[in-house]
Amino acid sequence: MSVAVYPGSFDPITLGHLDIVGRAARLFEHIVMAVVNNPSKTSFLPTSDRVRLLKESVEHLSNVEVKSFEGLTVDFAKNEKANVIIRGLRAVSDFEYEFKMSQMNKSLNPTIETLFMMAGLEYQFMSSSLVQEVFKFGGDISQVVPPQVIQHLKAVK
Ligand code: ADP
Repeated sequence: MSVAVYPGSFDPITLGHLDIVGRAARLFEHIVMAVVNNPSKTSFLPTSDRVRLLKESVEHLSNVEVKSFEGLTVDFAKNEKANVIIRGLRAVSDFEYEFKMSQMNKSLNPTIETLFMMAGLEYQFMSSSLVQEVFKFGGDISQVVPPQVIQHLKAVK
């Protein structure tokens, strides 16, 4: 079975992330969206909320599962029997970091390949950190995140 892991902070999930996982779901039999739980970093939303919002946002994709993990992505991928890590690439901004990360992951586990998918044109400028900023100052984020995220943020923040 072809299994891929799509890791990220998803803090919160945006339509850009959803676009990538929707396209990847047509290429692989099974995708595990993996929410990074990093206790030494303060996140905007707690891991449990990020996982729940992801689950609600990908309900329509029957071959996508959502989990959280701590530690190395390659170790998580191996546990999930995945041989591919999917990452989304926005123009220019992501390249250097993603390049470094994929080289490091390759040296940690050469059997796992990182597959980059270009962000859709309309999603190039979407980022979770921008969503956090705009929301904090009362701006409209309805064009950038799934409706579940807006409802949740209005309820808890
Ligand atoms: P991380 O903290 O690991 O970078 P993110 O949640 O910010 O996690 O992103 C997860 C993955 O999704 C990364 O590969 C990132 O480049 C990609 N990504 C982020 N925003 C977008 C977007 N708007 N369109 C496509 N891919 C994106």
